[in-house]
Amino acid sequence: MNVADEGADTKDARFRLIADVVVSGPEAESIFRPGVVDVTGSEIAYVGPLDTAPDPVGGVERANVEVVGGLLMPGLVNAHGHTPMTLLRSAGDGLPLGRWLKEAIWPREAHLSDEDVYWGMLLGCEELLCNGVTTTTEMYVRDRSVVAAALDSGIRAVVTPGILDVEGAGPAGSWRSFFNAAVDLYDEFNATSERITVGFGPHSAYVLPEDALVEVARVASDVAALVHIHLSETKAEDLVVRERHGYGAPEVLARTGILDNRVLAAHGVWLSDVEMDLLAAHGAAVAHCPQSNGKLGSGIARVKEMLSKGVRVALGTDGPASNDDLDLWEEMRLAPLLARAIAGDATAVTTAEAFKMATSSGAESLGIDSGVLEAGKLADLIRVDLDHGCFTPALDSTELLSHLVWAASSRLVTDVWVGGRRVVKDHRCVTVDADEARREVSARARRIFEQASRSS
Ligand SMILES: [Zn+2]
Repeated sequence: MNVADEGADTKDARFRLIADVVVSGPEAESIFRPGVVDVTGSEIAYVGPLDTAPDPVGGVERANVEVVGGLLMPGLVNAHGHTPMTLLRSAGDGLPLGRWLKEAIWPREAHLSDEDVYWGMLLGCEELLCNGVTTTTEMYVRDRSVVAAALDSGIRAVVTPGILDVEGAGPAGSWRSFFNAAVDLYDEFNATSERITVGFGPHSAYVLPEDALVEVARVASDVAALVHIHLSETKAEDLVVRERHGYGAPEVLARTGILDNRVLAAHGVWLSDVEMDLLAAHGAAVAHCPQSNGKLGSGIARVKEMLSKGVRVALGTDGPASNDDLDLWEEMRLAPLLARAIAGDATAVTTAEAFKMATSSGAESLGIDSGVLEAGKLADLIRVDLDHGCFTPALDSTELLSHLVWAASSRLVTDVWVGGRRVVKDHRCVTVDADEARREVSARARRIFEQASRSS
């Protein structure tokens, strides 16, 4: 067996992949045809053109050399998700966000068990990995199950336990119990695995009182943890916050100290220019979720303006109940497509910017050392099949990148490595029994639906 395959322990892994094309980043000079990626342990040891590549690390006989052909590129980074919501996929289709949550989502989530969340997350991880997503950012409840499924699936996860204060929104009571659970999870799991990072997920300024945000800001700052929060997703929510405080949600985050942390704000659909400046000044990132925002009718975030003001923009699927799949390739295409359409300007967001949003900007937003294929970075990479009409012709590297963003899709992802471990081989996730996970999620989703129907 190739050490690049299936082994759970990668610390001694040492292998070389030779591909027809290596897209280490979106710039023309970062694209090698043909190219080489050397991996040692969980990190990349070398990336470059084949003809000038050094001898394989550790000598030819000690290194596994595999000619994989196709195209190697960084794994995609999902910057905003509630992946266990595979259990609620499509629930409440056609409802706007507020009614969708109150009428379709929260009543079912009230019946979730730890095992439900585990299976929902596991099935979602299988889908993410097969789609070439190597890191996912999660905000949910029952987070021990989220961590356990992420570990079992082989995905890299930033788990930010949800902190809520809404009646009917979950199994526990006030925000403080969610907050205490988040602190416990941080103490128990952060950095215990190279693949798991724990942060904090205060849901939003509109469902949390200011004292909750102040407390989260203080504790996150003490341990330098990520704060992952929904921000300015809908017009209605924006108005609620303005009425309550006299100013918008970004200013609430600034005044409560949240913005003094590493912040990843999901959505940002209704941000004003001044609010974008505020986020940029604090180095906060926005997880743009165009498909979820479109499906729920929340609006279209002004990505062109955010980028021009220096706000880091990453991409998120959001949960599979508002997307309804976990395919970040769609966000990578929708982000520039919608930005260009509303601006009436094909230069509004470039193809390279779209590629970065799905890869390096996501990683930078999370503080994860991936998103680009470079020596010293984490060996999170994917192989894309080039034997397809959508890659023909590819006259130069610029066209090749355009094909990746505008013509290719997740269906062409054949192989995926996370931290040097091959978790998808020839389209099949080798770490998850997908049939079993689908059976579990189907049965559990039906039970949850019936329980919610009986209690309504
Ligand atoms: Zn969300």
